[in-house]
Amino acid sequence: MNEFELIHTFFTRQPVSRADVAAGIGDDTALLRPPTGQLLAVTSDLLVSGVHFLPDVEPRSLGHKALAVNLSDLAAMGAEPAWFLLNLVLPEADAQWLERFCAGMFDLARAYNVQLVGGDTSRGPLAIGIEAHGFVPESAALRRSGAKTGDRIYVTGTLGDAAVALRHRLGKQRLAEDDFAVVVERLDRPTPRVREGMALRGIATGAIDISDGLVADLGHILEMSRVGARIFLDKIPVSPVCRAHIKKYGWEAALVMGDDYELCFTVPPENTGALEKLQFACGLHYIGEIEAEPGLRIVDESGKPYRPASTGHDHFAENKK
Ligand code: ADP
Ligand code: MG
Repeated sequence: MNEFELIHTFFTRQPVSRADVAAGIGDDTALLRPPTGQLLAVTSDLLVSGVHFLPDVEPRSLGHKALAVNLSDLAAMGAEPAWFLLNLVLPEADAQWLERFCAGMFDLARAYNVQLVGGDTSRGPLAIGIEAHGFVPESAALRRSGAKTGDRIYVTGTLGDAAVALRHRLGKQRLAEDDFAVVVERLDRPTPRVREGMALRGIATGAIDISDGLVADLGHILEMSRVGARIFLDKIPVSPVCRAHIKKYGWEAALVMGDDYELCFTVPPENTGALEKLQFACGLHYIGEIEAEPGLRIVDESGKPYRPASTGHDHFAENKK
């Protein structure tokens, strides 16, 4: 299979066909019609074999995750996804591998109505770069810099499952088969919180998606908003499997390790009524408050400060003073 055949076989035919794509795959560039009066939200993420995923990962999961992490970034901005580009470096043109990779990627693309409009393909060590585009009304983007003292802090879904699944996969702990089946979904096939991010327009002051753990990612909001925060351990939402893990190993999976792709966001008191009217199938949990004093304070049920044992993140180093 040459490069042209590969592109034609796997990428030209795809499930989504949007009216705002004047020209998609096949010409020198794609030609796209962004809606007037909205900002174009653009993001890209690179996944490198051996760095971001294990070389023997299931290709269907890889296809899903490569697109999901980009849609998650759009979600964290409150943007509506529209288009994406795929840059693929492959050691060989393995048709079976490509078929499964595309199945994972295009199933998710269909679910969010995002169209593949171009990319590039080359031979080399396995790596996947996706660039995704979306739209957001100018004043509605959920920036990291918008949090204010007194805002309440929330997260969607549950935290920590992806980290627990990864520890099992790396042989660092053993889970029962059924438990692993539950959490590995969160690791391999995360759900980008796109509808949730869009619903938060006009309600949240700041937002981020959790890709490096709650502490690091909330830390980015705090830094860019020049504020601090207090979060409550007993309010962090975790699944039953993760709760059992925490009892044995502590809170690190939910606080510092997670690539859960949930949203963490801040809401001023006057908007909490509007927030409560939103129905999020994934759930929505209050976890703490934005405060004027810089730094992140984590407190346990008895009000005592909690310091996670292990972390490689800078924000923790600051916290330990
Ligand atoms: P060029 O020489 O201009 O880079 P290519 O032969 O690489 O063109 O690509 C031909 C067409 O196929 C272009 O429209 C390009 O966007 C598209 N394409 C190439 N690789 C991919 C890919 N991995 N996914 C989607 N579209 C691709
Ligand atoms: Mg090319």
